[in-house]
Amino acid sequence: MLSISHSLTGAFIASQLPHPILYIPLVFASHYLEDWIPHWDVGTGLSTGRRKRTTAIGLELVELAVSVILVYLFWRTNSQGPSWHIWIGAFVGLVPDFMEAPRNFLKWEPAFLKPFNDFHQNWHHSTPNMVLGLTPQAVTLATIFWLR
Ligand SMILES: [Zn+2]
Repeated sequence: MLSISHSLTGAFIASQLPHPILYIPLVFASHYLEDWIPHWDVGTGLSTGRRKRTTAIGLELVELAVSVILVYLFWRTNSQGPSWHIWIGAFVGLVPDFMEAPRNFLKWEPAFLKPFNDFHQNWHHSTPNMVLGLTPQAVTLATIFWLR
């Protein structure tokens, strides 16, 4: 899924639980579960050559910036930004994609990452259909917005 979806889901899970020992495993699980749902993201089309790597990298950087802004806006309180638990949740939500980034973007994969990336790939279902692929993510973000 989009980094926006994974990071906001991670932040939301962290906001609901009192300790990193509880939320970190759940945030990891949420990443694989969300990737299991057919989705569209900026990497869709990379493996088939329908999207250029430089385009995907540019879009991903924009998307990460949007993720940070949304986490901040969703969880800031009157005068304070989100707590560090929120930021940890958001970051952990992206870790499986960060581990896969060298393989996807640079065609380079350190050997110790291969088992993690293969596991990640087994859960991954994408669709080139943007409407179909973005609807579950829009629903996820709206739900988080109302429940947070
Ligand atoms: Zn992923």
